[in-house]
Amino acid sequence: MSKVIVIGGGASGMIAAVFAARNGNEVILFEKNEKLGKKLFITGKGRCNITNACDRESFFENIMTNERFFYSAFSGFNNWDTIDFFNEIGLETKIERGNRVFPVSDHSSDVNRVLEQELKKQKVQIHLHTKVEKLLCKDNRFAGVILENKQEVQADACIVATGGLSYATTGSTGDGYQFAKEIGHNITELFPSLVSIRLKEDYVSELEGLSLKNVEVTITGSGGLQGKNKEQTENHEWFRGFGEMLFTRNGVSGPLILSASSKIASNHCEGWCLHINLKPALTKEQLDSRILRDFEKNKNKQFRNALGELLLSRLSDRIVVLSGIDPYKQVNQITQEERTAFGELLQDMRFTIQKPGGYNEAVITRGGISVKEITPSTMESRLVQGLYFTGEVLDLDAMTGGYNLQIAWSTGHAAGSSIY
Ligand SMILES: Cc1cc2nc3c(=O)[nH]c(=O)nc-3n(C[C@H](O)[C@H](O)[C@H](O)COP(=O)(O)OP(=O)(O)OC[C@H]3O[C@@H](n4cnc5c(N)ncnc54)[C@H](O)[C@@H]3O)c2cc1C
Repeated sequence: MSKVIVIGGGASGMIAAVFAARNGNEVILFEKNEKLGKKLFITGKGRCNITNACDRESFFENIMTNERFFYSAFSGFNNWDTIDFFNEIGLETKIERGNRVFPVSDHSSDVNRVLEQELKKQKVQIHLHTKVEKLLCKDNRFAGVILENKQEVQADACIVATGGLSYATTGSTGDGYQFAKEIGHNITELFPSLVSIRLKEDYVSELEGLSLKNVEVTITGSGGLQGKNKEQTENHEWFRGFGEMLFTRNGVSGPLILSASSKIASNHCEGWCLHINLKPALTKEQLDSRILRDFEKNKNKQFRNALGELLLSRLSDRIVVLSGIDPYKQVNQITQEERTAFGELLQDMRFTIQKPGGYNEAVITRGGISVKEITPSTMESRLVQGLYFTGEVLDLDAMTGGYNLQIAWSTGHAAGSSIY
């Protein structure tokens, strides 16, 4: 039996503490907030998308960074183990569209509640309002921690589950990176990811709140491709996807954009182009016939009043401006050239990327403690014996859909269950 300190009472810290305690260890959990699981509470828009019930191959297609490192932890505690675990501790779950797993109640608070109950059942000593300030190591072995009130607490092992940098108000302020750095770990470059994208065009603000379904978004731009010359990287396609998006005050967001952001997060993407195809299901010719039909129907109307069936009205005002066609021109006066250019605009509306949004709105932090210095099956540091890192603090991340929490559960389980 060991004395184990867990730093951070988020998803990963709570599950790590449960499994460390189930192994018969004495477990002390330090959480600097007034309650456990503050971030977990806001996940999945308050419903908590616990994991994804897809097959293994699809699961790994959604891991964006260091998927190989994750094989071992996932094999030890996979998405089905997560569902079984939660069912066993009293949470009923359901599977929704896209294999996303949620509590039947649709309340993330129930996920927190069952975890907290289990921590208490396993006699984990929970200390809230308790910030860890420093790790103590001796001869490459973990020795203890110093708390904010300068109290020193000694233990045999420590699991650092302090999260990343996104949504700092939930407690993730990057403390774990600092701890790791101080004892010689490398931290890869950190970026906000799964985040909105800011655009340079001022008129975007006019479109705020406008949601588009069934559109295709492509991102092109140059740079960042090692070993390729400028011509090869000029207009490189970084992302192409289909789905839902929405306009914000200064850019774009929504599921499709969050996915896109994860492909560009680690690049200097200022000036890159975001293309929206508003009619991706139609070929150029099909779209032209469709426009022709609409124009025929509205031939005596002015161009600005003729797009009702083709486009959402909030978008059509801006499209009219971008088309360069006189809005007061009668539709039957529009030339074939103008019509062709108009069709091209509908299938390639272009915006200039300013940058991805900040940590305050990013679902995750990309980058973290270099996994080269961590044993994949246990999450133990290769530099300091008895010290473990789990969850978002690691250089390991995934797409939206329950995958990031599964990283927290699997790595937390790997660490907790490997300590005796
Ligand atoms: C808005 C939003 C929605 C999300 N929705 C989903 C979703 O539905 N599904 C999904 O899979 N993922 C989702 N994610 C991502 C997911 O929440 C995170 O990947 C996951 O919470 C990471 O878990 P963690 O335990 O590593 O870190 P965290 O959950 O961030 O927990 C870290 C904890 O450590 C504590 N801490 C930090 N430093 C110290 C210190 N020095 N001393 C003591 N305590 C400390 C913090 O207060 C915090 O409680 C979402 C993220 C956000 C921001």
